Amino acid sequence: MPSLSVAISHSPHILSPNSLARDTKTKKICQSQYRSFPLPLRSSIFRMGFVSCRGSKETSNTRIFTSVTDVLLDESAEEVQLPKGDTWSVHKFGGTCVASSERIKNVADLIVEDDSERKLVVVSAMSKVTDMMYDLIEKAQSRDDSYISALDAVLEKHRSTALDLLDGDELGSFLSQLHHDISNLKAMLRAIYIARHVTESFMDFVVGHGELWSAQMLSSVIRKKGMDSKWMDTREVLIVNPTSANQVDPDYLESEKRLEKWYHQNPSKIIIATGFIASTPQNIPTTLKRDGSDFSAAIMGALFRARQVTIWTDVDGVYSADPRKVSEAVILQTLSYQEAWEMSYFGANVLHPRTIIPVMRYNIPIKIRNIFNLSAPGTKICHPMVNEEDGQNGESLVKGFATIDNLALVNVEGTGMAGVPGTAHAIFGAVKDVGANVIMISQASSEHSVCFAVPEKEVNAVAEALKSRFRQALDAGRLSQVAVIPNCSILAAVGQKMASTPGVSASLFNALAKANINVRAIAQGCSEYNITVVVKREDCIKALKAVHSRFYLSRTTIAMGIIGPGLIGSTLLEQLRDQAAVLKEEFNIDLRVMGITGSRTMLLSDVGIELSRWRELQKEKGEVADLKKFAQHVHRNHLIPNTVLVDCTADSIVASHYYDWLRKGIHVITPNKKANSGPLNQYLKLRALQRQSYTHYFYEATVGAGLPIISTLRGLLETGDKILRIEGIFSGTLSYIFNNFIGKRAFSEVVAEAKQAGYTEPDPRDDLSGTDVARKVIILARESGLRLELSDIPIENLVPEPLRASASAEEFMQKLPQFDRDMAKNQQDAEDAGEVLRYVGVVDVVNVKGVVELRRYKKDHPFAQLSGSDNIIAFTTTRYKNQPLIVRGPGAGAEVTAGGVFSDILQLASYLGAPS
Ligand code: ADP
Ligand code: ASP
Ligand code: MG
Repeated sequence: MPSLSVAISHSPHILSPNSLARDTKTKKICQSQYRSFPLPLRSSIFRMGFVSCRGSKETSNTRIFTSVTDVLLDESAEEVQLPKGDTWSVHKFGGTCVASSERIKNVADLIVEDDSERKLVVVSAMSKVTDMMYDLIEKAQSRDDSYISALDAVLEKHRSTALDLLDGDELGSFLSQLHHDISNLKAMLRAIYIARHVTESFMDFVVGHGELWSAQMLSSVIRKKGMDSKWMDTREVLIVNPTSANQVDPDYLESEKRLEKWYHQNPSKIIIATGFIASTPQNIPTTLKRDGSDFSAAIMGALFRARQVTIWTDVDGVYSADPRKVSEAVILQTLSYQEAWEMSYFGANVLHPRTIIPVMRYNIPIKIRNIFNLSAPGTKICHPMVNEEDGQNGESLVKGFATIDNLALVNVEGTGMAGVPGTAHAIFGAVKDVGANVIMISQASSEHSVCFAVPEKEVNAVAEALKSRFRQALDAGRLSQVAVIPNCSILAAVGQKMASTPGVSASLFNALAKANINVRAIAQGCSEYNITVVVKREDCIKALKAVHSRFYLSRTTIAMGIIGPGLIGSTLLEQLRDQAAVLKEEFNIDLRVMGITGSRTMLLSDVGIELSRWRELQKEKGEVADLKKFAQHVHRNHLIPNTVLVDCTADSIVASHYYDWLRKGIHVITPNKKANSGPLNQYLKLRALQRQSYTHYFYEATVGAGLPIISTLRGLLETGDKILRIEGIFSGTLSYIFNNFIGKRAFSEVVAEAKQAGYTEPDPRDDLSGTDVARKVIILARESGLRLELSDIPIENLVPEPLRASASAEEFMQKLPQFDRDMAKNQQDAEDAGEVLRYVGVVDVVNVKGVVELRRYKKDHPFAQLSGSDNIIAFTTTRYKNQPLIVRGPGAGAEVTAGGVFSDILQLASYLGAPS
């Protein structure tokens, strides 16, 4: 094992024939020097504790001897020129493509299958290996002894893969290389362990091994298939300069020179090159940073002037959004270079952001393809002109959405910034001094505030730097604050010219507003390819789904929670069950019941309850009802941007939650009258909230069941009509009773008949007392702008005074006939005057009052014409003065009430963007 004392005192250098021979004239001599006298020249490297001569592909002295033969061969190939151009294509295989021996074989098959062109194959480390390598360093650095067993796991993974793939010499030489590398790594890690520190170049050297091994294995497998293949340690060829922003810039000239030299020595139709790794001009190993193999492939594409660069991965192409976050994401057929760049910059990790620039230079198209699904054509990234020729320009306005998490916003605010030149310079100078990466910037044109996003982990340093830089301005009040808003995410919408096309950003913000997402900052690049918004982290996925569905799905997906599966609730569930498919297919409305709760049991689902068997499921999987948990479950379902709770109870406690739900962005739909007829101040608060937010509260079925009463009233008001009076028969029960209280029939007999037919509440006094009608009157009165309490409405109670305290409904029904006489007289008087009795509610808007009472109407009055349990409502307005506007129809019963609720749900869907 190399001695530790020196292991960390030098930067790792790569020594290669090329680094020794800067020009062709001296090359031969230098090469032979290198090969013949390896030890003196390599001594510094040996002291480093690792072996560098990957260029020779061999490491031990015996192999160095073998390399001399290579040199001889190379000499004979001296005249081989690198044939650049479109006889080459570049293929990059991501970690998942080479995750196992099976997959590596598969990749090899794909490579050899078509020998019509030369291939430069860039290969990533086997899946997870780079993470494992970083983890080794982390462990060693923090003195966690398990780095040793973790390194063993790395060895074992590659050893067993090689055993599966290779045999004979190829296996032998790979394994000896592998063991050699591992023992060097062990020494380096031990040094890191002792020093508790790792330099960047040590780290880059260690983590790059995954690529070295996968490239060698793949190359061997191809040779085993009888094809010539060379593997390339790209640290010998790719020269990059580190930049301040933790990135590297390729040195194309130097890399091209080195490539030509490399090719002279290793001419081959199939080159397997390591992704991710490169060298600095000083030959210090470095990397192209995480996921950098895509970038390697693009640089190679440019160096070879290849026909095309194909990025093979595990998805069918670039999706309109991260498919792990948006299951409805669709594959994009084409993307322009700029679009692809913006998508990748803003977090679509299917492509490394730096991949575009090198290929764009030479107009080399990139294809993203799925190695596991060769039938999928993939996504083509190329110049937009080509897109236009493809005739796909029409669909290219908004292409995709991407997100970046773990950000914080910094807001520098103050009146002293306006018109003061150099403020932005000072701000970003301070940010640069702490080395933070600014991801987006937004400045209001009033110049009152500059707001920008930085990675969360850098925000404290940034805030401190700004506070100290602007100490004076802050003290003097020219700047009012340097505020940090933590826990933010960026959502970027990307598309050719979208930002300059009217309506696109409106739709985007509309979709966000509808999903009740608060936008904290906005930036629109003048590139016109991108609109970026900052949202709270917890809203990010919801925001992504909301905007994605707005542009891609046109299917409005709503998560629903049904509260109170009683008569109305269960009827609604049946209606939903019967309509779901049609709504989805014909109207693109996807209603998913994520929970049903009664007062004792609730049933929750993450994907949507199967409505044909919700009762069975409730029995099997029901849990103890908990309204708070229920609301949270339905709402927190991040898969679906919109949530509605449908309250089918008549409970005032459930109604007392509406405010809170609406505030959280949960839409509320209900036939429950309690909220709107409860205390006035609570009602006003609720309505005010509804108006301020984009959260909807619909309650059409509270009056007249499914009849369009509230919507008619709203329509009149919104179009500028003035309501003078609303008068109507609002109770289906009382409508039935008085429609049938004719001739010689006793009142109690008709009530009994109504009860029998199921028209009344279990205790008919609940209907006869008139409170229910009064609640409807108050709802309409408030809707018309009157500020009345329920107690302001005089109610004629039809329950005879002595029976109001009766213990039970039965007792009441039994005693009711004793009072028939009074009602019979009433009826007779009316009859004698050519009139009928009707129990009505009246909203007298002009005089700001309401009343519920038994009235007499002429026999030709529309109210006298009713039959069954119909409701009838007459609106007298400025426009409908002589002839009131009348709405009439069945106004009670589970079917029509549930129908009314259902129509509110569809109304909600259309407000949320469903097509009409
Ligand atoms: P590889 O190892 O092949 O480089 P990556 O994991 O780096 O693969 O990139 C592919 C992954 O990128 C996909 O599996 C997918 O989950 C993710 N991804 C994120 N955003 C997108 C997007 N918009 N389109 C396609 N894939 C995406
Ligand atoms: N293996 C490297 C990484 O995981 C590079 C790559 O796969 O693109 O970051
Ligand atoms: Mg990748």
